[in-house]
Amino acid sequence: MSKTVLITGGAGFIGSHLCAALLAKGDRVFCVDNLFTGSKKNIEGLLSDKNFKFLEHDIINPLFLEDAKLDQIYNLACPASPVHYQFNAIRTIKANTIGVINMLGLAKKHNARILQASTSEIYGDPLEHPQRESYRGNVNTIGPRACYDEGKRVAETLFFDYHRKHGLEIRVARIFNTYGPKMAADDGRVVSNFIVQALKNEPLEIYGDGSQTRSFCFVSDLVSALVKLMEAEDFTGPVNLGNPGEFTVKELADKVLASAGSKSKIVHKPLPADDPTKRRPDITLAKQKLGWEPKIKLDEGLQKTIEYFKKEVNRI
Ligand code: NAD
Ligand code: UDP
Repeated sequence: MSKTVLITGGAGFIGSHLCAALLAKGDRVFCVDNLFTGSKKNIEGLLSDKNFKFLEHDIINPLFLEDAKLDQIYNLACPASPVHYQFNAIRTIKANTIGVINMLGLAKKHNARILQASTSEIYGDPLEHPQRESYRGNVNTIGPRACYDEGKRVAETLFFDYHRKHGLEIRVARIFNTYGPKMAADDGRVVSNFIVQALKNEPLEIYGDGSQTRSFCFVSDLVSALVKLMEAEDFTGPVNLGNPGEFTVKELADKVLASAGSKSKIVHKPLPADDPTKRRPDITLAKQKLGWEPKIKLDEGLQKTIEYFKKEVNRI
């Protein structure tokens, strides 16, 4: 049955794919975004759809939506790239505290189910590998990443307190590194940085020695998991959503160079403070509860992403 859904951060990378997926399944979509890291270009193909409405709004301010009855809210509004979430750390904390309280209040008023885009960053620099949902994490509370990591941790706490106190229907997704078309070229995350550098035949900048690992999930896989989680009955999560394939940053650089057919060299830059040394999701719970696992392997996803960026790089 078609639903009325609010997506905060809907003009961002993941949010814009989610808006398109929900419209395609017949839902009515309200997209709320302050356009900090997102852009109207990501949703330009959706603006003419009668079931789609864009509202430029910052979730740090209350939102009422008196004229609609929301069934579901996906809360994705928060800059996700370290460069952007550290640009104004206090605003990042506000989005994850005041903003999250505003969205939980909205869900309560509409009696809507609400999903939080949490993150693998809540595990910090993990001492358990791969990371299971039961792992409580190793986060530096006062470091430069804390505005995001601790913000997302308190957001999870708020979700569970609204659930316990008000019986709100919540879903918590712990998203691991996700990539694909519509990442912003200047986003600052590793996949988009490497691809743009490779396509411009500029040096690929590896931070540190490149031995740190990440697990990269293609965006279509992640979006299908978010929808499955939202639709699942009697399951709040938290649940890890990501691709368990684990690669060093150096391996990623080599794959991007090969896929892009680039002549770029590799250079090394200092490793940012508190950069996690390893990361890989244990997705047993997602398999059991959602019947989900990612389908797109890194080589295939990189190829699709490179095709997208070829057009973008010509524009920059
Ligand atoms: P993104 O930066 O492209 O999207 C975030 C969107 O939120 C942008 O459109 C931005 O303009 C908007 N936004 C930021 N602050 C806002 C505010 N206060 N009010 C309204 N809108 C605001 O990043 P993304 O990769 O699409 O991430 C989406 C969500 O998923 C984020 O919450 C992020 O923390 C989470 N997440 C992403 C990843 C990943 O690898 N992409 C991993 C873990 C978690
Ligand atoms: N990284 C890199 N070069 C870049 C951007 C990032 O070597 O141009 C490294 C970064 O230090 C980290 C990994 O790639 O170890 C993933 O970084 P990203 O910012 O994409 O995400 P996160 O650290 O939040 O997982």
